Amino acid sequence: MVSFETASFEIAPRTTIGRVSSLADLPIRDDLRGLTPYGAPELKVAVQLNVNENTHPIPENVARSIIEAVARELLSVNRYPDREFLALRDSLAGYLNASNFGAGHLGGGLTRDNVWAANGSNEILQQILQAFGGPGRSVLGFPPTYSMHPIIAAGTGTEWIAGVRDAEYEISPATAVDWIERTTPDLVFFCSPNNPTGTALSLETIAAAYDATSGIVVVDEAYAEFGHDGEPTALSLLEGRDRLIVTRTMSKAFAFAGARLGYLAADPAISDALRLVRLPYHLSSLTQAAAVAALAHAPEMLAMVDDIKKQRDRIEVTLRELGYHPYPSASNFVLFGGVPDAHRMFEQLLERDIIIRDLGIPGHLRVSAGTEAETTAFLRAMSELTE
Ligand SMILES: *Cc1c(COP(=O)(O)O)cnc(C)c1O
Repeated sequence: MVSFETASFEIAPRTTIGRVSSLADLPIRDDLRGLTPYGAPELKVAVQLNVNENTHPIPENVARSIIEAVARELLSVNRYPDREFLALRDSLAGYLNASNFGAGHLGGGLTRDNVWAANGSNEILQQILQAFGGPGRSVLGFPPTYSMHPIIAAGTGTEWIAGVRDAEYEISPATAVDWIERTTPDLVFFCSPNNPTGTALSLETIAAAYDATSGIVVVDEAYAEFGHDGEPTALSLLEGRDRLIVTRTMSKAFAFAGARLGYLAADPAISDALRLVRLPYHLSSLTQAAAVAALAHAPEMLAMVDDIKKQRDRIEVTLRELGYHPYPSASNFVLFGGVPDAHRMFEQLLERDIIIRDLGIPGHLRVSAGTEAETTAFLRAMSELTE
């Protein structure tokens, strides 16, 4: 007969609760040791021009129709959402086909099969690196560029290779090809217009890079809607290039940063790859409903884009008059050099209840174009600080 004895495990009493450990004490992955997380300051100040949001609130009638859509969806929130978010992909494809923000004409146009979405384009980039990067693989980028690109690379265990840009933050086709040939990356990340410099990338560079690699080429077009009118974007290169991915977001021009909706356009096989790594039901039914409702009001949601571009141009002109060196921008922000002490100026603006971005590039700061009033407040402070 088997006898069962009650084992007695002593649970040692803990006298301390709360934080008893530091990150360095935890058995974290070696390749994450010593890294710093994304850390744009989240300070509540009157004029927030530091993370390139659309600072215009969404129109009230649009807000109402989003609320109604979300409310309807709540009635079936006991069920998992549409895992394939078909309605949303239809809406996104329709938006890209109809927009004059560089969609170009892609044969018969984009369909839901060309589109994939996630909780922000950051999650899209993460899924791309999970599927095509990872341990033993590498991604080539060109700093200064979006600070999340190397951070997402690190999170997925993908080696980050830092290419070097030409003068004025440009990347010529020859420079891109040279870096690809020398480093043979599995992926190439471009950002156009580039954050934080505002620099637009030529289609020639993207096409040349594509031809020089057998890997994946990603063009992060988070700011495409702020580009120069009628100028084609990388979307116009998709046809016949099945390793090219163009990522977009509703966070910037669309004034939807808090809702978290990013997407991509690419060959349908790309979505098949991402299905292998995404979490099931990654897009909540509330997010899907909100985004579809917002996209149905695209013209109203984007009504402020022209005004934001006007404020951006005003920032460029005024900063130049004040003696700074603003870089030409095709986005909703301006990087400017010629600042004797960037951190000090950041602090002085903060004292005036204005926050912009100190990126750690010596002598440079970045400011987002806000409403007319916010932009005026910034420019007035700059002229006081410059005297
Ligand atoms: C702001 C930004 C994004 C947006 O990310 P979301 O996750 O969609 O909010 C993506 N790429 C670049 C370059 C950005 O500046």
